[in-house]
This record gives sequence, C-alpha cells and structure tokens, in this order.
Amino acid sequence: MTLVEHDESVRAGAEWATSLYHIAAEQFERTADVLALDPDTRARLLEPRRTLTVNFPVRMDDGSVRSFTGYRVQHTLHMGPTKGGMRYAPAVSMGECAALAMWMTWKCALLELPYGGAKGGVRCSPKEMSVDEVERMTRRYAAELIPIIGPERDIPAPDMATGEREMAWFMDTYSQQVGYAVPEIVTGKPPVLGGTEARRPATGLGVVYVIEGALERLGWPVREQRFAVQGFGNVGRIAARELYDIGARVVALADASGGVSDPGGLDVPALEAWVDEHGGIEGFGGGEPLGRSDVLEVECDVLIPAALEQQITADNADRLRCRLVVEAANGPTTPEAEALLAARGIRVLPDVLANAGGVCVSYFEWVQDIQRYSWDHIELQERLRRQLRAALAKVWDTAERLDVSWRTAALSVAVTRVAEAARLRGVYP
Ligand code: NAD
Repeated sequence: MTLVEHDESVRAGAEWATSLYHIAAEQFERTADVLALDPDTRARLLEPRRTLTVNFPVRMDDGSVRSFTGYRVQHTLHMGPTKGGMRYAPAVSMGECAALAMWMTWKCALLELPYGGAKGGVRCSPKEMSVDEVERMTRRYAAELIPIIGPERDIPAPDMATGEREMAWFMDTYSQQVGYAVPEIVTGKPPVLGGTEARRPATGLGVVYVIEGALERLGWPVREQRFAVQGFGNVGRIAARELYDIGARVVALADASGGVSDPGGLDVPALEAWVDEHGGIEGFGGGEPLGRSDVLEVECDVLIPAALEQQITADNADRLRCRLVVEAANGPTTPEAEALLAARGIRVLPDVLANAGGVCVSYFEWVQDIQRYSWDHIELQERLRRQLRAALAKVWDTAERLDVSWRTAALSVAVTRVAEAARLRGVYP
C-alpha cells in the first residue's frame, strides 16, 4: 500500500504558495513597487523566515490514535519575537499560515509593536471533537512547537476556534516542560492566569475605534450610518454590539447558520440573547431572514466582513451596496475584488489596521506578564484607542501623500519600518 503519494506539482521550498499566500504576496509586491524597495530586501520579506510542520498522534475518546498535522510559520525575525494566533480548522495549511504570518508582521509594524508576524494552527474539525480530545490535541501541539516558541521567541494567541481555554492548556503545557509558570508564553489567557479582561473585546472594539476615527475624517456621523456585519463571533459580535451601544444602526448580521436584516436597525442585545440560547442567528424573529452570504449584498453604508478570508471576490464585488468596507476579518477581500470596488468608488479600510486591536492588547498583556505588573481595564482601552488612532492617522496621511489606497498606505508604513530594521541588522555573517 502506498502511504504517501508523490506530488511533483509542489516545488520544494514553495509549499506555502496557496491562493491566500498569493494575495498577501501580491499586496506586498504592489507596496514594494510604490516604495521602490531594493530587490534584496524584497526577497527577504517576501517569503517566511521559518516554517514548521508537525505530525503528531492524539488518543481519541474511543481509544484509537489519530494523526494530526499542525503548522507554525514565523514571517520575519528582524523586529523581536514573533507573534500571531493559532487556529483550528479543516483547511489550515502552511500557505494559509504563511499569508496570515506576513499580515501579522505588517500589523505589528504599523502599530509599532516590537514583534515580527507568526501564525499557526492544526488541521482538524474541532466541532466534531470532544473537549477532552481538543485538550489532548492542544497540549500535544504545544509540546511539538517547543523548539521554536518561547516568551522571547514566538508568542501564540487565540484565533479561529481557539480561545482562553486553549491558551490556558497551552500555557500549562509549556510551564510543565520548563518547571515553573510562564504566563508570557501566550496571550489571550484567562485573566486569573495573567490574561487581561481587556483582551476579550479588544479586536471588536478596535474595529469600532478605527471606524469612528475614519468616519470623523470622512465627515460621516457614525449614528447616521447603516452597518452590516458578516460573522457573529469574537470579533463581529463585539463590533456589532459596540456600534449598537453608540447609537449606530446595524441593519444586517449573519453567522455560519444564517442571517437577519432590518433596514430600521436590529435589536443587537436581543440577538445576542437568541444566539446564546440557540447557538446561531438562524431562526431569530427580529427581522427578515437572510442567507449567510447575502449579508454582504445588503444595502448599507459600512460593510464589516468579520468571519472568514476571501469573502468579497470578483464574483460578488459588483453586487455590494455599501460605501465603505471595513475588514475586521483577515484577508476578506481579494485583490481583483478590491480593484472592482475601487472602480465603483467603494474604499476599503484594510485588515492590518481595522483588526489590529487584538494584537495591540495582546502586546499589553505580554508586557504586563514579563513585568509582573498590570494596568487597569480602562487604562488599557484608552491606550488601545490612542494606538489605533495614531496608526489610522499615519495611514491616512500616507495615502494622501503617495496617492494610493489605504491598504497600500498601511503596508507602506509597515514595510518601510521592517525594511529599515532588516537594513540596520544587515546580513549575517
Ligand atoms: P470566531 O470563530 O469567534 O467567529 C467567526 C464567526 O464567523 C462565527 O460567528 C461564525 O458562525 C461566522 N461564520 C463562519 N463561516 C461563515 C460564513 N460562511 N458566513 C457567515 N458567517 C460565517 O472567529 P473570530 O475570532 O471572530 O475571527 C473572525 C475573523 O477575524 C477571522 O478572520 C480572524 O482571523 C480575524 N481576527 C480575529 C482576531 C481575534 O482577536 N479573535 C484578531 C484579528 C483578526
């Protein structure tokens, strides 16, 4: 029996070259052209510095042993330790992690956080696994990563289908290996283990802080805008609730189960209560039912994709009926779609800015852990708001100065910073 089929189409060294990686690479190349980046630095920043694939066994509840594949990709080591989430999903691949790691580098550089980007994950279907199985898988994945992670080397965090629970297991596994508690090995932990209350809502709140800043500059009063949000998880739910609380109209919402719309504005707290009870938006009576992808095509002022990658594509870009797209998810807009939107005058606030609130508060958590000192919740939120507003100002000014999109402007600020660090460190030996 042949266990491994040889696939000649995968060129050695380019295993990360998936469609998502091509999107990240294309965005980088466009920015490198604008900056006239020299070919050596371009080559150093285009591909990930380190990629690790691990295949490891996990004992399932029925006694059988299953093999899982996990990844960790570190995009650049120029700026300090690397930082990035870990996700559990059936389609996790090295290429997906490589793209997301590159975006993390730009996000951290834009916010002036002393990190390079990383990303990891395990190919699995967590919803089909028991809690015990997810725990054993998490602990073994953490143990497999030990050669390349550490508080000074690479600090994981939650991403899709991972949260405080997984971070606690991850931190415990690492701590067991070294013999003492190391809270600073991951961020997004439960507060009692060195996490911070401010991390839970940070990404969603950050999305709203960036929206407030951008709309102020555009002269669009927030309360007069209609918002549609795809995704009602950690990011989409917090963003929708915060928008509702500040008096904006949320006219459509969707999650994987389905969606709902009301041009007069949805009752978001009632929807939250429904989702807590029923597990998803489907069946909520407070508006017109909507297909889960239809939310992207609802008439609104601001569309917030907060679910998955590659949701706005050349296939549906012409049907969007918004004035502004705010990328709360990572990589929700393909470059082809972005060009079509630009031609229609629809601007895109890019992911590296819009969803940077999560890594910003993760940074605060890490600093607190290594100093054994903590700030209060209010102070952290105020620091988050200041840091995102400062990044928005840089993006805005750069877009005007270079006459480029906000994405290219954001990447220009970030790439300039990382390229400078690479140049100053030089080439070893
Ligand atoms: P999550 O798993 O908590 O929530 C995802 C939501 O999307 C769920 O409501 C799910 O039902 C919904 N969804 C899934 N497939 C869908 C579909 N086909 N149509 C409509 N809805 C669908 O994940 P999250 O943490 O909220 O992350 C969402 C996005 O934000 C991801 O792209 C993630 O990488 C990005 N992000 C998250 C953070 C963070 O701190 N959690 C930080 C930065 C970026």
